[in-house]
Amino acid sequence: MVNESKVEKELILEVKDLRTYFYGSDDVVWKILDGINFKLHRGETLGIMGPSGVGKSVLAHSILKLIKWPGKIEGGEIFFKGKNLFNLEEEDFDDLRGREICLVMQNSSNSLDPLRDMTYATSQPYKVHTEDEHENIEIKTLVISQLGKVSLPEPSQTSDKFTHQMSGGENQRVKIATALINNPTLLIADEPVSNLDATVAGMIIELLYEMKVKFKLTMILITHNLGVIAQLSDKVAMMYAGKIIEISDVETFYQNPKHPFTQGLLYASPSMAPRGKLKPIPGEEPDPRKYPTGCHFHPRCKYAIVKCSIDEPSLEEYDKNHFVACWRTKDIPKFEADF
Ligand code: SF4
Repeated sequence: MVNESKVEKELILEVKDLRTYFYGSDDVVWKILDGINFKLHRGETLGIMGPSGVGKSVLAHSILKLIKWPGKIEGGEIFFKGKNLFNLEEEDFDDLRGREICLVMQNSSNSLDPLRDMTYATSQPYKVHTEDEHENIEIKTLVISQLGKVSLPEPSQTSDKFTHQMSGGENQRVKIATALINNPTLLIADEPVSNLDATVAGMIIELLYEMKVKFKLTMILITHNLGVIAQLSDKVAMMYAGKIIEISDVETFYQNPKHPFTQGLLYASPSMAPRGKLKPIPGEEPDPRKYPTGCHFHPRCKYAIVKCSIDEPSLEEYDKNHFVACWRTKDIPKFEADF
């Protein structure tokens, strides 16, 4: 008999000290990811939050080894089902990408070939990862079934359409259907509902939730949308200046965030800030070419002490499954959630 709790706890992804840098002229180095660490178990969804430009998409591309020069993965390790991805031969990685680990990118209509129909688009990962010759009729049947799974109306007709004949939401559903055609273990969804109107976005969120439950998908969800995080994530990681500064389960993220930046971001959100407490975080994001010494947030932090500008805090377990990178975690007042 299968032990369900053991299945639930299978470690799917472990990222250790991942560093991805970009190189400019004059030997300038942009440390976009500067020591990322997290673990993800089967069936879990990790929401990754953080300000624009913090490196959320670079993280997705690093996991899939899609970083191109002038970017370079400079260090760290990524284990997928126990295998170090960086030790794989290129052809073994190609076999994994699009089959076991899939990516749904933002702006789906831009990533679909305008000259190819949806049968072609949806079937590509399947054709690439299976060696047998396929009859057209077999491919068509598979695609229609796949488009039906993501609740596209009239999947048979949709399979003959081109991207310009469909709405943004329909294009996004096709991208999700394409990503799931090989039953991947890990789906990375990068801003899956940006640029969609609220109704369509709601439908895509519902669809992702359904896929996650039905297929026990493990997911990384990259978004700056607090509502999307709340609806889909089990855990949330907050990124700031090249690092994860706080990671916890989703309830803790909203009810008891401890890092001053996480609290600041929630107090700056009209939907989260208690009445009368809505306020922006002072200052600006640091330049990835030259992060401040010590805690990268210290120039903007009202709780900073001298130590904060000298020594860099690492992620430490503050409470069960709640990790925070801050020297003063115990002194930070409780977040006053407005719900
Ligand atoms: S380490 Fe210091 S500067 Fe950084 S968040 Fe904590 S209190 Fe603020």
